[in-house]
Amino acid sequence: MVRAMDIAAFQDVIARTYAEQDRARGVAATVAWLAEELGELAQAVRKGTAEQQREELGDVLAWLASLAEQLDLSLEEAAGRYATGCPKCGSVPCAC
Ligand SMILES: [Zn+2]
Repeated sequence: MVRAMDIAAFQDVIARTYAEQDRARGVAATVAWLAEELGELAQAVRKGTAEQQREELGDVLAWLASLAEQLDLSLEEAAGRYATGCPKCGSVPCAC
């Protein structure tokens, strides 16, 4: 079993693992791959097993981290938008 990992550590390991490929591929192609992985996740949700769904969730997260890295943005800071609840109303649960 993989150990628990915070978002910044996840982005860091993805960056160290795929930095060279990410640079060669570029942002536009990374967005295209992320969209493709989202499609695979959608398919797994519709007709996949829990294991397949978990795998596709991981792939989407990895591509999202690659994109954040290429944009020189922190996924953790991005997630921080929701850290105290709904970004619009500030409530947990959302009261919008
Ligand atoms: Zn709200």
